[in-house]
Amino acid sequence: MHPIQMVDTKNQYLKIKPQVDSAINEVLESAAYINGKAVQDFTQSLNNYIGSKHTIPCANGTDALQIAMMALDLQPGDEVITPSFTYIATTEVVALLKLKPVFVEVDKDTFCINPESIKKAITSKTKAIVPVHLYGHAAPMEEIMQIAAEYNLYVIEDNAQAIGCNYTFSNGTTKKTGNIGHIGCTSFYPSKNLGAFGDGGAIFTNDDVLANKIKMIANHGQSKRYYHDVVGCNSRLDSIQAAVLNIKLKELDNYIQARQSAAAFYSSAFANHPKIITPSVAKYSSHVFHQYTLTLDNVNRDELISYLAEKKIPSMIYYPVPGHKQKMFNAFDIDNYHLPITDWLTERVISLPMHTELSNEQLSYITHEFLKYLNR
Ligand SMILES: *Cc1c(COP(=O)(O)O)cnc(C)c1O
Repeated sequence: MHPIQMVDTKNQYLKIKPQVDSAINEVLESAAYINGKAVQDFTQSLNNYIGSKHTIPCANGTDALQIAMMALDLQPGDEVITPSFTYIATTEVVALLKLKPVFVEVDKDTFCINPESIKKAITSKTKAIVPVHLYGHAAPMEEIMQIAAEYNLYVIEDNAQAIGCNYTFSNGTTKKTGNIGHIGCTSFYPSKNLGAFGDGGAIFTNDDVLANKIKMIANHGQSKRYYHDVVGCNSRLDSIQAAVLNIKLKELDNYIQARQSAAAFYSSAFANHPKIITPSVAKYSSHVFHQYTLTLDNVNRDELISYLAEKKIPSMIYYPVPGHKQKMFNAFDIDNYHLPITDWLTERVISLPMHTELSNEQLSYITHEFLKYLNR
């Protein structure tokens, strides 16, 4: 059996090596390292895949979120509602822009932001909501968009973990996550479902005015070469990464299927175990399984992790400290937050190896050892 890895990008690469290598070579030969044809081609293909009107590539997912927020012309102190149970990038950029992150609860079942919790957190200073499609499952976007319309708020989707996820509205129409809010953001960090061989990110919007602003901000606030209208930054997807991504985008739906079948293997092995809650999938969402995350009941998680490590099975806690417990947010009165579901989940979640290259042999070994520990 091959050694088990949390993420296996090497073996994924080997399967498409000839195409990837020749795409990279084309960039090297063309010497169009910045905004070359590869970037334009990938941007177009990604735009078609997501179904968005505009796609703006950028340097990474954190920049995507930052640029999206910069495009909304928010004022210092304006409030942005985000889940506390997310990766730090979602909330960090809010504070970086001198806005106020307001942390709310997630649903126990989907790990995604809870609409009731959003409503309770809205004040006259609230300007935006940032739902996160955590682990590859969609946040309840229909309800979120209704709340946003009612209170006149922007919605920026953090789609870093869920590219390819389908959201079904109550009228039966389907959209890709990242193409539902006013702006969508994603990341091509190597371990993400659509991963580059380095950093990368993209921003989606159907709003022409926002698209124009986002393009300008990502390019030094430039409207025309050397004419800088607003303060922006320098955030580009490089041509080599775009060339790689263009090959991998063609495989994305296959990659998602491979993740889904690994998840199905896990979930059937763990079904009905009294100490394990397997991931659930809401009616409105598909699940692209960026992570396969269990909630443990009455299990010593640290001991379990050590046991698994001894058996050469990697596992991770995403995330061990929620936003409202991070020191970087001390200035935001975090001691007064009461987010019991977030705290409950933080203590109980565990993520197992999840990628496109898991074999049935590896999956049986992982589930066998996992259950052996729980049933001792
Ligand atoms: C990965 C990730 C980001 C940031 O992406 P980078 O490309 O690493 O900057 C943002 N939000 C979430 C939820 C992520 O998982």
